Amino acid sequence: MKKRDIVTEKPRPVGPGPRALLGARFLIAAAALEQLPPAGPPEVAFAGRSNAGKSSAINALASRDRLAFASRTPGRTQQIVMFVLPSGSIVADLPGYGYAAVPQAVKRAWQEVLAAYVATRPTLVGLVLVVDARHGVKPLDCVLLDGFLPSGREVMILATKSDKLSRHEAAQASAAIRRDLGERYPHHVARITVVPFSATARAGLIEADAVLARWLG
Ligand code: GDP
Repeated sequence: MKKRDIVTEKPRPVGPGPRALLGARFLIAAAALEQLPPAGPPEVAFAGRSNAGKSSAINALASRDRLAFASRTPGRTQQIVMFVLPSGSIVADLPGYGYAAVPQAVKRAWQEVLAAYVATRPTLVGLVLVVDARHGVKPLDCVLLDGFLPSGREVMILATKSDKLSRHEAAQASAAIRRDLGERYPHHVARITVVPFSATARAGLIEADAVLARWLG
């Protein structure tokens, strides 16, 4: 190599980035619990209200643009989408809930599927609940938490879109979520981590990644 080539070559940016979900590949899209692969390797699941920012959070954590598809048409047949990691661990992207235009019966049916999944999937090691930092934890989020927390497993709340708040407001929003959960779930709050997050501003990625790595490690 000529000396000039060495001089002009720019150093690649190196630095910490999320690692726990790197190398995720699509595994299956299941329209019913019976279609899921048998429980085997450790699994983490991402849940959240429609439009909360779940797909964006998964993509940011997996360092991919379109692993999880944003805006899967609400109301269409909904699915649990699973990805497999190089370690064999599984990431489940649960259908978003609470979209106003979805018929009531479809909503109810899916809420039951999701509640059953989080309550009974034996290999689910942790639940990631994506909430809009500005809105906090809503009643439908609590339906999932009610079903999941008694099993003794951990929850990580990603309080996302924090870029829409000032740093101070984002800290206050997370503190309010923590307080709220402490009041609702006094016996389980020690197993809930709240991470101020933004997929757009790539905030909270390292903190969230560390929790996922611990769960899947
Ligand atoms: P999902 O329905 O929960 O999967 O939500 P999406 O990831 O599709 O995001 C819903 C909308 O919120 C889209 O318009 C995203 O561009 C936007 N969004 C997602 N995450 C963020 C974020 O961190 N900051 C901001 N400002 N917008 C976001």
